[in-house]
Amino acid sequence: MKKQKRNNKKSSSKSKIAKIIELKCDKSPFCPVKRVCPTGAVERAGFFMGKITINDEKCIGCGKCIQVCPHNAVSF
Ligand code: SF4
Repeated sequence: MKKQKRNNKKSSSKSKIAKIIELKCDKSPFCPVKRVCPTGAVERAGFFMGKITINDEKCIGCGKCIQVCPHNAVSF
């Protein structure tokens, strides 16, 4: 009898992926985090005061977003 894999979790080889802490994010339309990301991983839902998210597929873990966020709303 063959054993079936039951691992439904999405696996990733990346060691670091940035995450937005929603409660700290002010959703500013001038968000510096979105401007500094070299891969365009920081995405906004709509232009004004839209929710800001980080695309796991695009993030390379460089940490630039963590350095520039004025509210410390980004972490690994
Ligand atoms: S860690 Fe780097 S690549 Fe990932 S979201 Fe932040 S700035 Fe973009």
